[in-house]
Formats: sequence, structure tokens, C-alpha cells
Amino acid sequence: MKKIIVAGAGHGGLSAAINLARGGFDVTVFEKNKRAGLGWDWTDAFVPSALPRAGITALPDDDILEFRNAGFLPPSKKVMVNTDTGPNPTVKSVDRKILLAHLIKEAKSAGVKFEFSAEVNYALVKGNRIVGLNTAKGDVYADLVIDSAGIDSPVRRNLPEKFNIQNEIGDGERFFCYRAFYDVTSDEKSDPQYQIIFFHNNRCGMDWCITEGNHIDILIGSFSELSEDDIEEAVEDYLADFPQMTDKIVRGGQCAKIPLRRPLSKFITNGYAAIGDAVCMTEPLSGSGIVLSILAGKILADVCVASVEKKFDESELWKYQYRYMQEHGFSHFNPGVIKDYLSSLNAEDINFFVEEKILGAPELGNVGENTMEDMIQKLVLLKRPDLLPGIIKAATKLMIIPRVIKSMPSSYDVQKIREYMAMDKNLDW
Ligand SMILES: Cc1cc2nc3c(=O)[nH]c(=O)nc-3n(C[C@H](O)[C@H](O)[C@H](O)COP(=O)(O)OP(=O)(O)OC[C@H]3O[C@@H](n4cnc5c(N)ncnc54)[C@H](O)[C@@H]3O)c2cc1C
Repeated sequence: MKKIIVAGAGHGGLSAAINLARGGFDVTVFEKNKRAGLGWDWTDAFVPSALPRAGITALPDDDILEFRNAGFLPPSKKVMVNTDTGPNPTVKSVDRKILLAHLIKEAKSAGVKFEFSAEVNYALVKGNRIVGLNTAKGDVYADLVIDSAGIDSPVRRNLPEKFNIQNEIGDGERFFCYRAFYDVTSDEKSDPQYQIIFFHNNRCGMDWCITEGNHIDILIGSFSELSEDDIEEAVEDYLADFPQMTDKIVRGGQCAKIPLRRPLSKFITNGYAAIGDAVCMTEPLSGSGIVLSILAGKILADVCVASVEKKFDESELWKYQYRYMQEHGFSHFNPGVIKDYLSSLNAEDINFFVEEKILGAPELGNVGENTMEDMIQKLVLLKRPDLLPGIIKAATKLMIIPRVIKSMPSSYDVQKIREYMAMDKNLDW
């Protein structure tokens, strides 16, 4: 029986593990945390239908929570842009620990084995192939290594240069955040609301505040490293804005990093396939890393099960990268381009964009070429030529990126893949 080992119990790795074990492979997951310590202590946006689409049992209805649409605030807080998509949106919310427990239970019943408290250090390399992992429990050899160890995966970071896989996710390519649920006093309740604010307290970043029945969910985020002072200042501000909020943390209270860039231009090699945050499979700014990773896991498993010789060479695994990028790659680029553009502005510019309705619900909800053209026209009418070069650059990227994704070679061809990677790297999105 062919052996597959998974570094990290990330969502994509678990989805792949479930489908691979059902496909007849011997699968073991190596996770650095104890079972009890797995998963962030908060709830997240999630599309429940992703589980059955990935061949995984749906979550029970009781575990699916409603998700509210956000209103966007500029730093001046003078206006609020609502992005209400109407009743019954497909996006719901789920408790992260419940989702992981569900995936692990399904994996175990499919025959996947787990090693908890088993930190992975680096990949074992033989010639031009990854042949296993060095873990806290010793060296483990396998036919395929799946790297599902998150944004700072030591497996990816320590891969030798010859595999041509980007080791480091740069500082400008990650969103630094702090998140906690704060207790509320029982006597003062307000209507439920979800606010996203750009450049809160002039910090180049984005915060959210979701008021719910028994707590207030605060996220404080920055496009560069977040300081203790940034967190304190933002929390003080929310305490002043929401009289029912107290400074008692009831869940979370941790710092984390979210990828803020497109997927890496190459994430497979002989005997190795990476998935999830290890590859940057998040939609920059809007999230969706959970769903995209779970769907990627199904694609990877399908490719492995169908692989005729089951040697897991780069030429076979390229089908996984190609299919993922063609099916989901397009969802990464619009928010990525808008994020780059927003982070090049300052608080005053953002106030101008939102207050003058240049950046409104359509632009914040789904940015496309047409909305960019409208924004350019409005800037011309409002006589702000200083803001035009940045937005024209962003609009140009929005036109070019889909062409680059479509130009990916559908079958394995070393020269064509090199050309595609060179184009992708030049895009700077
Ligand atoms: C504050 C915040 C809010 C978010 N909100 C959303 C949202 O609303 N919706 C959404 O879809 N996404 C959201 N995301 C993004 C989402 O968390 C990720 O995209 C998603 O978890 C997919 O990442 P992953 O499973 O690949 O990696 P991770 O979730 O990072 O999992 C990696 C796993 O690998 C383990 N690991 C790490 N290093 C090692 C090692 N050396 N050895 C062994 N194991 C290791 C970790 O312990 C972990 O279990 C949010 C993220 C944050 C931080």
C-alpha cells in the first residue's frame, strides 16, 4: 500500500487525507499540537456546502451559525458602506474547533492515523525527490509528503532551492492580526452589527468589530507587524464606541498571520504537494482560506487516486496545481489587487474614496474591470490626478492576471512551466 504523510492537521491536509484514505492509501498526519489544543478559539466565515463538494459529510445544522454582511467604515467613521447581499447568503459561520473535530472524526473513520505532539522540522530529500519528513518522533519515509503546516510551514521554508518553490512568505504578503471576543454587560445591549474599518487610528490595515448577543468579536489587523500599542489603542477605541463592551476576554486573545497574496507560483515537486496557507490559498482580505483549502484537498486526492503509476512525480502532481488554479485561482486575484491598492493609500485618501462614493459597495464587494473604469472616471471628474497612476496600475493588473492564469500549461512541460512562473513572478500582485 502506498504511504502518504501529512505535515500539520490543516484543513486542506485533512480533506486530502480523508479522500486519500478512502482511495486506498496508508495516510498518517503529523501535528505539532496536542489534539485538545487544535483550532483557533473563535468562529469563522464558512460555506457549509464545501464539505459535501469535497466528499466530506456535511456539518449538522446545529453547528452552522448565521453570518452577517459587513458595513465598511472609512477612518473618519463619517459614512458606512453596506454590502448587504440579501437574505439567506451561502456564507455562514462555524466554530473552528467544531469544524476541526468534525474533520478529524471523519478522517479517523476513513482510516487516517494521527500523531499528535509530533512537530515536523523539515523534508527528507534524496536526489530530486522529497522522500519523507524529519519529525519530533524521528524520520518518517513516504511516497508522498503533503505540506499542510500553515503559512510558516518549516517544510516549505527548508526546501532546497533546486525545487524552485518559494520558501518565505514576505512581510508585505501577510496580514498581521489580533483577535478576541470581549464580554458585554447584560444591562446594555445593542443591535447586532458587523463593521469593518480601514486605517483605524491611521494604522495601515483593517479592523472588524462584530457585536453579538453575549460578546463583541474584535479583529485588529495590519499590513505590517502589529505592536502591543496598536492593539491597546484600537481596543480602547472600541470600548469608547460600544458602552456594552468590557475589557474581559472570553475567547481568543491571540495574534495570528493570514496570507495576503496569490498562491505560490509553484507548490509541487517530486514526492511533495503543499496545500492551504502553506501555499497562500486564501482570498486576500476576505478570507475563505478554509473553504479553498478543503476543496484543494479533494482535487489533490483525486489526482493521486487517478495517477496511473502512483509515483507522485512533479509531472503527475502538476495536474493538481493546474486544476486548483483553473478552478479557484481567479478568486484570489481581485481582492489581492484591491489590497495592494488600498495599502498604497493613506487614511485621508481612504476617507476621500469612501465619502465621495468612489469606493462603494460594488467595489468593496466584487472588484472588476468595469468598477475600476468607473473609479477612474470619478477621479477624473473630481480632479484628483494624483490618485490616477495607482488605480490605473491596479486596473491593468486586473486585465493581465486572468490571462496569466489561463496561460498555465495544462500538461507538464518544463520549459512552459518555467515561462509561466516567470510571468507570474513579474506580476507583483
Ligand atoms: C483571525 C483570523 C480570521 C480568519 N478568518 C477566516 C474566515 O472567516 N474564513 C476563512 O475561510 N478563513 C479565515 N482565516 C484563514 C484560515 O484560518 C486559513 O486560511 C485556514 O485555516 C487554512 O489554513 P491551513 O489549514 O492550511 O493552515 P492552519 O490553519 O494554519 O493549520 C496548520 C496546521 O499545521 C500545524 N503545524 C504548524 N507547524 C507545524 C509543524 N512544524 N509540525 C506539525 N504541525 C504543524 C498547526 O498546528 C495547524 O494545526 C482566518 C485566519 C485568521 C488568523
